[in-house]
Amino acid sequence: KFQSLVLEEDKDLHLRSRTEGDLSEGDVTIEVAYSSINYKDALVGNQNQIVKHYPLVPGIDLSGTVIKSRDGSFKKGQEVIVTSYDLGTGHDGGFSQIARVPKEWVVPLPENMSLKEAMILGTAGLTAALSIQRLEDNGLTPEKGEVLVAGATGGVGSVAVNILAQNGYSVTAATGKDSEHDYLKKLGASSIIHRDEIMDTDGTPTRKKRWAGAVDPVGGNTLQYILSTLENSGSVSTSGLVGGIQISTTVLPFIGRGINWLGIDSVTCPMHERKKVWQKLADEWKPSMLQEDMLNEVSLEEVPGVLDKILRGEVRGRTIVKL
Ligand code: NAP
Repeated sequence: KFQSLVLEEDKDLHLRSRTEGDLSEGDVTIEVAYSSINYKDALVGNQNQIVKHYPLVPGIDLSGTVIKSRDGSFKKGQEVIVTSYDLGTGHDGGFSQIARVPKEWVVPLPENMSLKEAMILGTAGLTAALSIQRLEDNGLTPEKGEVLVAGATGGVGSVAVNILAQNGYSVTAATGKDSEHDYLKKLGASSIIHRDEIMDTDGTPTRKKRWAGAVDPVGGNTLQYILSTLENSGSVSTSGLVGGIQISTTVLPFIGRGINWLGIDSVTCPMHERKKVWQKLADEWKPSMLQEDMLNEVSLEEVPGVLDKILRGEVRGRTIVKL
C-alpha cells in the first residue's frame, strides 16, 4: 500500500491509501522521491478543464527510482525524472509515493544532479532553460544588452533570473512583490522593477527600446509591453498566462525592428531536446539556487494549501513535495 493525493469526483483532493492495481497504465513503475508544485498543478487542483478525468492523482513532475520496468531501456534501481506529457492531467502524477508511466516519458537522471535538485527545478526549471535556449538560438548573447524576466519571483522566473545572471547576462527582474527584492538580488538580478511598469495600458505599438531579450511566463498586457520595447532583432520567449491569455499587438515592432516572438511548450518538447536541456541544467547552467536555502519543502498533506497560494500569486520560488 502507498499514499497518493487524489482529485476525486467530488472535485476535492483526498489523501488515499492505494495499491498497485490503482496505478495508471505504463511500462515503468517508479518509487517517487520528490514531486514539485507548478502553476499548472494549481489549475488542476482548481478543477480546470485541463483535468482529463476523475479520479486523478495530480502532480506534473516527479523524480524517483525505478522499481519495475517492462522495457529493457530502464533498469530496477535507476534514477529518473518524469515531467509533463499527460502526467498529473490525464495520467496519475507525482503526488503519490508510487507512479507508473509510459517509457517514452522517462528521462534518466543526468549525472551531477540529485533527485531533489531535479524537482527544485521541475517543469518550471525546464521551461526557464528552454526559454533561454530559444533566446540564444535566436542570437541572444550577454553583449547584446539587458534581458527582462517577468513574473520573476515565480518558479519559471526565479530559475530564469538565476541561470541568466550566472551566465553573464545583465538581468532586470520584474515583480509584483516589494518584499522580495533581496531574494531576486540573491538570484543575480542587477535591476528590479515593479510589474506595473511593464504593462501596456494604451496600445502604443513601439516604445523606447529596452531589452535584447525577455523571458515571459506572464502573457497578457505584460507581453504586449515587451513586444513594444524589444531592441532590434530582440526576442521574447512566451511560456505562460498568469497575466491573461489575450494580447493585442501590431505588426510594427516585427517589421520595423525585426523582433522574434518565440513560443515555449515544455509538454510536447521532443525527448532529445528535453535530455539535452536537463543535461545542461546539471552542468554549465546548474543554477546556484540549488545550493542555497531557497526552496520550500512540503509533505503530501500540505500540498492543497500551497495550490491555493499559487493561484493567489503568493508563492515565491519553488516548492518541492517529499514523498
Ligand atoms: P508561479 O510559480 O505561480 O509564478 C508565477 C509568477 O507570476 C508569480 O509568482 C508572480 O510573480 C507573477 N504573477 C502572478 N500573478 C500575476 C498577474 N496577475 N500579473 C502579472 N504577474 C503575475 O508559476 P510558474 O510555475 O512559474 O508558471 C508561470 C506560468 O508559466 C504559468 O502560466 C504556467 O502555466 C506557465 N508554464 C508554462 C509552461 C510551458 O511549457 N509553456 C511550463 C511551465 C509553466 P511576481 O510576484 O514576482 O510578479
